[in-house]
Amino acid sequence: MRIILLGPPGSGKGTQAQLLVQRYGIVQLSTGEMLRAAVAAGTPVGLKAKEIMASGGLVPDEVVVGIISDRIDQPDAKNGFILDGFPRTVPQAEALDELLKHKHLKLDAVIELRVNESALLNRVETRVAQMRERGEEVRLDDTPEVLTKRLASYRNQTEPLIHYYSERRKLSTIDGMMAIDEVTRAIHRQLLALGAVEPKTHAKSAAKAGPAKKAKASKKARKTAKKPAKTTKKPAKSAKKAAKTAVRGPKKTANKAGKKAARKTVKKAAKKAAPKTAKKAVKKGAKKAAKKVTKKRAKR
Ligand code: AMP
Repeated sequence: MRIILLGPPGSGKGTQAQLLVQRYGIVQLSTGEMLRAAVAAGTPVGLKAKEIMASGGLVPDEVVVGIISDRIDQPDAKNGFILDGFPRTVPQAEALDELLKHKHLKLDAVIELRVNESALLNRVETRVAQMRERGEEVRLDDTPEVLTKRLASYRNQTEPLIHYYSERRKLSTIDGMMAIDEVTRAIHRQLLALGAVEPKTHAKSAAKAGPAKKAKASKKARKTAKKPAKTTKKPAKSAKKAAKTAVRGPKKTANKAGKKAARKTVKKAAKKAAPKTAKKAVKKGAKKAAKKVTKKRAKR
């Protein structure tokens, strides 16, 4: 499955992309993330992008198109990918069409997360506050001033893509103001409707394998979390997080399924056992009575 997530900064593209990655086993290709990594590593691309990114501008098309083209060729992208933050301009979308055609790949859907712009500033402020609380490094472009510029750039350069993909019958718009899991469900429903995911296989695997697999993962994660962090603090943290998600996710379903199954088993057992026990009791009682009668007769 190959999809594009469209939406202004702060619309939840990154969050949804990560959830989709977990659900469908595909990779997230975020040009923003890749560029930040290039900046951190001080590569030639990073050096080119650093100033532009810090000011909220757009990195030249040929740079991002090149990064994406190389990334799509990596083995882990064979199963499918979510493009997050790319394309951002019509020329980038055209270049993407061209490179997908060249690679004999098809785009399944473009999901637009529509949000209320005035709420975005609040969201970004909350995100920054939470990151600071966790002691994480805050992005240079996560300031109200730069966000305003990024929003303007979205409106002018990226929004035309809505028309571009709607003309090509690829666009699905989802209300990005709903709760995170509601947005995920809406995206899933849309992907089902488009035939981008298989309903049976997915529903089965989610119901059967899901909780069991996650439970396993949570066990493993808890083990790792308990172990003293040998190398860095990160694995322990991620293990804890994984344990949390693993427990939080399947808990409800597992409980429900467990309760239902238990009720069924009890009912079945009761049904099965009741007549037998009753019959046995009757048989036992009859035997006892017969013995008594024989004894009495013998006495006489
Ligand atoms: P993001 O994490 O998607 O918000 O991207 C952060 C910054 O990276 C943007 O403000 C741009 O400066 C740059 N960037 C990311 N993706 C692209 C793209 N497709 N085209 C141009 N610049 C990009």
